[in-house]
Amino acid sequence: MVAGLCLHVMASGAIVQNHARDPSSGFHTTSDVHLNTSADSNPLLNLLTNSLVLHQTIPYLPISSLLNLAAVSPSFRDLLLYRTPGVFRHLDLTRIKIGHGSEVWPSVHLDESITEDDFYSGPLRRVFQNIRRRDILHSVQTLVLDGLSVTAEFCNEILVDPTLRVRILSIRDVKNLNERKLMQSLRYACRLSRPEDTPRLKALYVFGPKDAPALPTPPLIARQHGAARRGANISIGWNHKSQHALNASIQSKGDDWYHRKGRMIGKHIAEPWAETLLDCREVIKFDAVLCTSPRHQNSSAFGKVPVTPRGGAGSGTERPWSVATFALGGCASCGTAPEGFTVYGESPPEDLPLLAPVPLHSSTIKAATCPKPDPGSEGPHKFIPRCLECIRERYCFSCDQWWCEACYQVPSRQELSGQLVHIVGQINGVAEHVESIAVELSNVKVRKGYCLDCYPTSAEPKLASRHLLLPP
Ligand SMILES: [Zn+2]
Ligand SMILES: [Zn+2]
Ligand SMILES: [Zn+2]
Repeated sequence: MVAGLCLHVMASGAIVQNHARDPSSGFHTTSDVHLNTSADSNPLLNLLTNSLVLHQTIPYLPISSLLNLAAVSPSFRDLLLYRTPGVFRHLDLTRIKIGHGSEVWPSVHLDESITEDDFYSGPLRRVFQNIRRRDILHSVQTLVLDGLSVTAEFCNEILVDPTLRVRILSIRDVKNLNERKLMQSLRYACRLSRPEDTPRLKALYVFGPKDAPALPTPPLIARQHGAARRGANISIGWNHKSQHALNASIQSKGDDWYHRKGRMIGKHIAEPWAETLLDCREVIKFDAVLCTSPRHQNSSAFGKVPVTPRGGAGSGTERPWSVATFALGGCASCGTAPEGFTVYGESPPEDLPLLAPVPLHSSTIKAATCPKPDPGSEGPHKFIPRCLECIRERYCFSCDQWWCEACYQVPSRQELSGQLVHIVGQINGVAEHVESIAVELSNVKVRKGYCLDCYPTSAEPKLASRHLLLPP
């Protein structure tokens, strides 16, 4: 109901009229005011004066719409800018048009005095200056910059600027971000000798994909495009329908670390992130957590169960820490894991990941880490966070079963090669060829990413006919 109301607000031509674009700000400025906005005669103002409705509605509205409303009407201005302190608490800049790099900086401006940071964060800085001028930046507690051009220097300023109060920052899928510089800034901000009450930032969304936008319904979009682009509209419509279906499925089943099993983070994670998460552990939360397998020093089971050493060329040494990219359920044999589950409500708060989407109606860590209620299952919300290296040859990518270190030792390459059988074919008493095959290894639970139940049977004849030779 609230989303429907928002669409009405944005779509209503009666509210904002004759606006012109101010090219320097990215916002609309209104040149003509047509509104009679006393609360008695304006039903929208009347409705928004109800603080519950206002607070539920505001986060769905782009800042440009709010500023336009405030610009056209003293009553709205009074309500939005003066009487409602939290109105700009949640600032999502992904919905306003911000130029990127060269679109905004013509080549004539590219002299040597412009730094890389000026170039890539220039457009966003201008929007920020504009918001700061209007004296609303200091009330922003949740800042969403997903998908924009955001440099590490810009993030560092958000971290250290004493006039800002950003507690939750989302920079997923951003462009031009030097992650190593960002990691340095984060580790410095969380150093032991940091000043009291710093940093203000408590949550950083950086690993997951950006949230799916709350889109208008397909018919509205289709109307805007007209009949001439019918073919294109059909595909747009379908994209929107799938987006809505996806949103609906996410909302009903949950798509977070607790509800989904399997790969949670698809993108490559640079190695220093694990150490960054560890260094920031008490201070800043992330939308990822460390792998808790007994291979790693941060695990409660470290050194308590035997782990198969990583053999073979190129595997390098054991990593002391690693960012988890998979969420698992309990082991198929014992129902748990040597390190146990990460349990919402029981595990230390530092062990809980931030969950997507970024909370709209609150800027607290509690809201950002609280899993959706799941009517289909009883008991606490829990999962086992693991990195790929720690589930290799233990996890079935088809059915999500896995076997833990306490229940299953992955055979080493030596053990596997020791089970080769050499067959000497003889025709007329003369050795014709030698063929090696692997006997069925009864103790192997996962082969090539599949458990024995899921292993594609079509692969078997191929293996046999290829005269499979296991590498030594
Ligand atoms: Zn087990
Ligand atoms: Zn691991
Ligand atoms: Zn399976």
